[in-house]
Amino acid sequence: MQETAPESRDDRTNRGTIPEEHGNTLTRVYEYGCGREAIRGMDIAIDQMFRRNELWNRIVEIDNEVRTKMEATLFAGAKEEELGSIREKLKELRSRLAMLRADRKSSKAERDRVRAQVKAAALEVRTVLDEVKRARKANAEENRTLMRELDADRRRRIRQVQVQAGLYWCGRTEVLRNYEVARRRAMREGRRLQPRPWNGTGTVCVYFQQGLNVSGVFGDNGRLQIDPIPEDAWKSASRSVRRRLARTRVRIRVAANADLSPVWLELPMTMHRPLPDGGVVRWASIMREQVGLSWRHRLLLTVREPAPSGIERPFEAVGVDVGWRVTPEGLRVAYWCGADGNHGALVLPPSDLAAFRQIDSLQSTITAAYDQARSFLQSYTNSHTVPEPLAALAATAVSSLSPRALVRMFEEWKANRYLGDENAFTTISVWHKQHVHLWTWQANLRDQLIRKRRELYRCFAAELARRFRCVLLHDVQLRRKSAKPPVMREAIPAQRQHRFIAAISVLFRILQHTFEKHSGTVLRIKPEHATMSCHSCGTLDEWNPAATLTHTCSKCGLTWDQDYNAAKNVLRQGLAVWSRK
Ligand SMILES: [Zn+2]
Repeated sequence: MQETAPESRDDRTNRGTIPEEHGNTLTRVYEYGCGREAIRGMDIAIDQMFRRNELWNRIVEIDNEVRTKMEATLFAGAKEEELGSIREKLKELRSRLAMLRADRKSSKAERDRVRAQVKAAALEVRTVLDEVKRARKANAEENRTLMRELDADRRRRIRQVQVQAGLYWCGRTEVLRNYEVARRRAMREGRRLQPRPWNGTGTVCVYFQQGLNVSGVFGDNGRLQIDPIPEDAWKSASRSVRRRLARTRVRIRVAANADLSPVWLELPMTMHRPLPDGGVVRWASIMREQVGLSWRHRLLLTVREPAPSGIERPFEAVGVDVGWRVTPEGLRVAYWCGADGNHGALVLPPSDLAAFRQIDSLQSTITAAYDQARSFLQSYTNSHTVPEPLAALAATAVSSLSPRALVRMFEEWKANRYLGDENAFTTISVWHKQHVHLWTWQANLRDQLIRKRRELYRCFAAELARRFRCVLLHDVQLRRKSAKPPVMREAIPAQRQHRFIAAISVLFRILQHTFEKHSGTVLRIKPEHATMSCHSCGTLDEWNPAATLTHTCSKCGLTWDQDYNAAKNVLRQGLAVWSRK
């Protein structure tokens, strides 16, 4: 079942004629829905997903071990401990300042005093950090040979586990590729890589080093085959005809037989849109995800295609301010102002907002029912003798905070009923039925809403990318925003909920991808006084932005929507930054 040589028989079949790459190409991912049940090969595909997960975890283990050793070599001693404690101090001071700002009764003198302390502590952090960096650099110089050996050891061991993984080589390649990206990011952010628990979800993929022509997808390629469908599947005027004709099958190679012929995973799929003419497939993967109680499969094709020529983007930049504000039109997630004078808002409609809130209300129903069932079980097990192994599972379920333990106990109970358990069993089975119903409902709703939101953000990003070369993004520091002092958290649960619903980080990622695809630029900027200063005359008024949406400038008399004003400021200051680049 395993392959050792990357060059196997199927490599010969995928070398079609590849169009010359002149200048502008773009890479896009085409996504197609597949059926819930595979036609064949799912057991082998799942085995491969499991092995991929195992390989990832072993690589993470090795990486962390080596990082620990490297850290110990570089450790600068007392200075680092000092750095840690003054960072703590700075954090405390910052949250105190934030609390004072939120407290209307606090005095200006007090705020100024704490602000000065924050400034001093920040300066101290910078000074000590420089010292620590110098010391670490010296340590690295001194132990250069050791460091190099450690890194060579890491590479050697990773190669070894890679070979032992029993993975089709495309899967191996992708795990390693993901690791390299994740490792660099983790080092930059000072984090460690995390192992992933196996939950039955995952990906199988194939890779085409030379690329596979789009027309080759419908042929007898050794790694990827889609049964051809008629043109009418995309061109027919009737929606039902299109839907019927778009149904086809996809086969993706998950392993090789002893004679090197492919082992296929085959799934029904719906090809609702054609692949681009002249495109070249680089990667194909099938993702398996769990939604509620059922499985969902998707085919993702990464295609390099000629960039559409003749796009005119006369207006260079657009400023975007982000947030999460409830307006009568819905949840306002972003406001944009273009250099062409146009502007507008990205709004999540009220119906979606209501549906997102329903997820939370379902959650409280689920929790309440679960708490009730759990305390029932507790009093029941206290007053009745329950046979093993049910008693042990019941004890776990009572002490656990997750319904999963109770579900497991119920399943065991259902299979091993005992004399006199009728009433208690009925109570728990009533809970179980309701729990599964609510949980599935919630999972489907969440999945549907997240997909809808992603589509909305994609359309927004595509529209901006069509019109502008550069997006200037107000770089709200998401991490710090989420680390608000506890007092404020409790005061504004609705706002916190809206922040999660808005999912600004998702919007940022989509904007980034979309602009990169259209060879545009995303520039994150930190504008000064974006909210408070008037975009027209620059006056900095003292006013409370939380109280009203609009403000009238005290100097020029202009009344503006504060998000519009902020986007204008982002655009103006961002253009200045961009022109310096
Ligand atoms: Zn003004």
